[in-house]
Amino acid sequence: MSESPSLFRITPAKLRSFHTCMKQYWFRYLSGQSWPERDDNEAPLVIGKAVHRAMHILTQSQNEDVARQQLDIYLRMPKHSCAAPGTESYDEARELFEKGIQAHRSLDAEESWAERETLAPWPSRGVEVSARVDRVDRKTSSHYVVIDWKTGNYEDEDQTDIQLDIGHVAARRTLRLGREVHVTAIGWNLRKDEQRVRELVRADAQATMELMAANADRMQRTSEFPATPGPACKFCDWRSQCPESDVTWDDNEGS
Ligand code: SF4
Repeated sequence: MSESPSLFRITPAKLRSFHTCMKQYWFRYLSGQSWPERDDNEAPLVIGKAVHRAMHILTQSQNEDVARQQLDIYLRMPKHSCAAPGTESYDEARELFEKGIQAHRSLDAEESWAERETLAPWPSRGVEVSARVDRVDRKTSSHYVVIDWKTGNYEDEDQTDIQLDIGHVAARRTLRLGREVHVTAIGWNLRKDEQRVRELVRADAQATMELMAANADRMQRTSEFPATPGPACKFCDWRSQCPESDVTWDDNEGS
């Protein structure tokens, strides 16, 4: 989606980066440096992408066998050798997807959409919010469900809530939902079999946009970007260039 030159674009990833580690935000969005080459053959990454892709195909096709086959093809690709058949990661991906199928079967919808992308501009506040939603279901004409699939072990609840609220705005905008529609937004962790649920109405979407505008103001006014070493360093694309990087950080230290 092309960026409106006069509007400050916010995405869930940009917001997460700003609040997790300002130095990472600086590297990504302000430094002008090319994004470092990423090793795409890392098991958690491959598993997450494989399962998300298969869930997308399942929503689109409503055919479990087709989606299973696509998962298998993805995992058999040479560039995904870390999760090839015969590895623990392959079994893990298959197991997670079977949980996804159970979740899919439990969703009784009139209609479903996979991966809706949207851009919500707010010119008078100088901001636009861009987001992608994993799945949207219409339960009835006045009740929709937005789902964000999760496959990781670690989840930041605050970040999940913001992501769900932005997903709610995205669904309202792309599907042009009326004032009377209420939306259940779910962060559905297939690994832990847990759901984080938010019941949202139109006024909540307005409040989310206000919050995004306030964040955009702060991001644009910020001039210092200190490093915040922590669990995010393990997954930071810039760690080889960051002297403060701490990949030995123990997740338990933060709890
Ligand atoms: S390696 Fe860690 S401290 Fe450095 S920019 Fe990335 S997240 Fe921040």
